[in-house]
Amino acid sequence: MPELPEVEVTRRGIAGPLQGAQLRVLRLGKPLRWPLGIEPAVLAGTRLGSVTRRGKYLWLPLGRAAEGDAGGLLLHLGMSGSLAWLPATATTSPPPAGPHDHAELVTDRGLLRLNDPRRFGAVVWSASLAEAPAATLLARLGPEPFDPALTPARFHAVLKSRRTPIKQLLLSGEAVVGAGNIYACEALFEAGIHPALRADRISAPRAERLLAAVRGTLSRALELGGSTLRDFADVHGVGGAYQAQAAVYGREGLACPRCGAPVRRRPMGQRSTYFCASCQRR
Ligand SMILES: [Zn+2]
Repeated sequence: MPELPEVEVTRRGIAGPLQGAQLRVLRLGKPLRWPLGIEPAVLAGTRLGSVTRRGKYLWLPLGRAAEGDAGGLLLHLGMSGSLAWLPATATTSPPPAGPHDHAELVTDRGLLRLNDPRRFGAVVWSASLAEAPAATLLARLGPEPFDPALTPARFHAVLKSRRTPIKQLLLSGEAVVGAGNIYACEALFEAGIHPALRADRISAPRAERLLAAVRGTLSRALELGGSTLRDFADVHGVGGAYQAQAAVYGREGLACPRCGAPVRRRPMGQRSTYFCASCQRR
C-alpha cells in the first residue's frame, strides 16, 4: 500500500511537469472508489496549479484564465495505485492504456496516468478543499508529521486520551498522519516502545521520543524515495530503497540490529506487526 512518503515522492515527481499544464481530456476507466462528481468534459481547457498533499491525498487545483478557480481533483492511490507521468514528445504517442489504467489526465505537456489494479484509489472533483467532498474526506485526518504545530505535548495529549494499543493508534492517523504499517513498526522500534502498549500509558518523554522516531523514519524514507513495496514505483518507474534499510519490518526471525534477539511478528488488527520483544518495552 502506498504510504505517505511514497505519496510525497509522487507529488514531487508530478508537481513540476503539471504546474501550468493545460488539461485537454480527463479519461476515466472502470469505477474507482468514489465517483468523479462532475462531467469530465467540463474540466477540459482548465490549467493545473501547484500540486499539494494532505495525508495520502494529492490535490491538483484547476483554474481558467478568464473565470479563475475551477475547483480541483483530489487523488488517492488506495491500496495499489501509482501515477506515471509520460511527457509529450513530438514523435511518439504514449503507450495505450492497460487493463489497470483507470484514469488519465491528458495535458498539453504529457499524460498523467493512474494505474490501480485493486481500484481502491480515487479521483474526485471538489469545488475547493474547504467544501465537500474534499473537506469531508480530509476532515478526519490527524496532524501532518512535519507540521511545527504538532509539538510533543500535543502528541502526548492525544496518546493520553486513547486506550488502544499504540501501534493501532499510529495506524489510525489520529495522533499523526503518515505512520502506516512499515513506518509505525520502525518508529516504535526506534523509540523502544512495545507495539501493544496502551497509548494512555506512554509517558511524556517516551511520547516525545516516539514523535521524533516517526519524523526520522518518514524523512529517511523520503530521502530514499519511499519503500520498495510490491507495486510502488515513483513516477519515473523507480522503486524506493527504504525497505532494504528496515530494522524490524519484514524481518521475522532475523537478528534484531540492536540486541541480536530474533525479530518477532504478530498480527495486530489484521496487519503484521514486527518488533523486538527485548528492546521494545511495555
Ligand atoms: Zn532487540
